Amino acid sequence: MSDSRTIKIFDTTLRDGEQSPGASMNLAEKLELAQALCDLKVDIIEAGFPIASPGDFEAVREIASTIRGATICGLARCNDADIDRAWEALKHASTPRIHIFLATSAIHREFKLKMDKQEIIRRAVGGVQRAAKYCDDIEFSPEDAARTESDFLCEVVEAAIAAGATTVNIPDTVGYATPAHFGGVIRNLKNRVPNIDRAVISVHCHNDLGLAVANSLAGIENGAGQVECTINGIGERAGNCSLEEIVMALRTRYDYYQADTRIESRRLVPTSRLVSNITGLQVQRNKAIVGKNAFAHEAGIHQDGMLKEPRTYEIMRPEDVGLAKTDLVMGKHSGRAALADRAKALGYHLTGEQLQSVFEQFKILADKKKEIYDGDIAALCEQQYLNGADQWNIESYHIQCGSGEKPTVTLVLERGQTRSTETMTCGDGPVDAIFLAIEKITGITVVCRDFRVQAITVGKDAQAEVNVEVVHDDHVYRGRGVSTDSVEASARAFLNAINRVEVSAGGRLHPQHSDAPPAL
Ligand SMILES: [Zn+2]
Repeated sequence: MSDSRTIKIFDTTLRDGEQSPGASMNLAEKLELAQALCDLKVDIIEAGFPIASPGDFEAVREIASTIRGATICGLARCNDADIDRAWEALKHASTPRIHIFLATSAIHREFKLKMDKQEIIRRAVGGVQRAAKYCDDIEFSPEDAARTESDFLCEVVEAAIAAGATTVNIPDTVGYATPAHFGGVIRNLKNRVPNIDRAVISVHCHNDLGLAVANSLAGIENGAGQVECTINGIGERAGNCSLEEIVMALRTRYDYYQADTRIESRRLVPTSRLVSNITGLQVQRNKAIVGKNAFAHEAGIHQDGMLKEPRTYEIMRPEDVGLAKTDLVMGKHSGRAALADRAKALGYHLTGEQLQSVFEQFKILADKKKEIYDGDIAALCEQQYLNGADQWNIESYHIQCGSGEKPTVTLVLERGQTRSTETMTCGDGPVDAIFLAIEKITGITVVCRDFRVQAITVGKDAQAEVNVEVVHDDHVYRGRGVSTDSVEASARAFLNAINRVEVSAGGRLHPQHSDAPPAL
């Protein structure tokens, strides 16, 4: 591999990533993330699985209609209804791609599909041909490819390419592969499939053994030209190959791989934060590239070396992945233009109206705390996506409580033009009381499974960020709330989760349900 190659980045945060329990996003959040992925310069955005639910369909259609600068892809099983529905959602994209999948491993053939090898090939060819009538960019995935017999995998891939597939994606659906093994799977296809040069080989690795990035790199080394990945590595179970890790591995070790991507690496940290904030899935501190400690040098000898010459212990520069050395502090005298600038740098695309609303909130916050940090601004921007007109918002609350007495709470919620008030004496403390009042007004009861409070920035006047995880009807939902008042932040987080329960009850087919379509 002496020639320099450009590896395509296929981001599936909106499809595979969204399948993480509790990571479901609303339409506004998906559009925001799609725009951020576009700014990050990913080549392909897998926007969803259109037939899975009306919500998925609408999200793919909106993203296809509005996002420019990346190929927009929709997932479909290998049948007419799925493929037609995918095209219906994708047809307004400037560069659409239909992604079809069909399981090929013996265990899936026998137990899930109950089809023999010839039937699988017939279906694969039929599906690709149908999709090829709609558009010329077709990706075909033999699901569970890593466990498929190598002769049969070659046969399926050859047939799919002959039928019109322009990308063949090799998924390690269950995260079973190891690097040398997976590299061998790709090499085998490259050497044995006669028409392989007519398609791009893609890899899609799951992280069940913690090897998704290593396996993807092995795929690239052996001829793969596309990697499927997600921001922060989110996804089913242990997740997918992490976009930021694969991108920086290629860039940092260009000397070895002679391959790079189009990714604007300085957008990696802002995009990671956006995904974490939207989904409520926090990034572990020691996470490579985007974790809080990824560039923190604690050992004295390292610090000494760093002061003399950063390259002694640093293989990447923090600024190259978008980690600002210091937060730019703003205050009550900062103007609208400065705020707009900062919001943009953090990855938010606000309309004039949204910016005005964020600016007003910013002024109120600046009166409460002296210094406003990036984390505060990000929290204000996110409120714009949380507070839909059809969702519950907190108007006001009042709590009277003390040790040895049951709290009395008066809560006012509003939703559109309607306003509901509830006064109750209940609960074990102010947070419990306000949660009970929210359940009473909204009529939605949940089990709270996790509740975490942390400071967004530094100082005693820092805003509190509360993350809650609740269970309703066997589904997990997350909520996030921010305020300088930790009780209010708790209430906002809980209400955010309740709003997600309501949206979900409106018809989303959840991937965890057995009646939902499978996905690779
Ligand atoms: Zn997957």
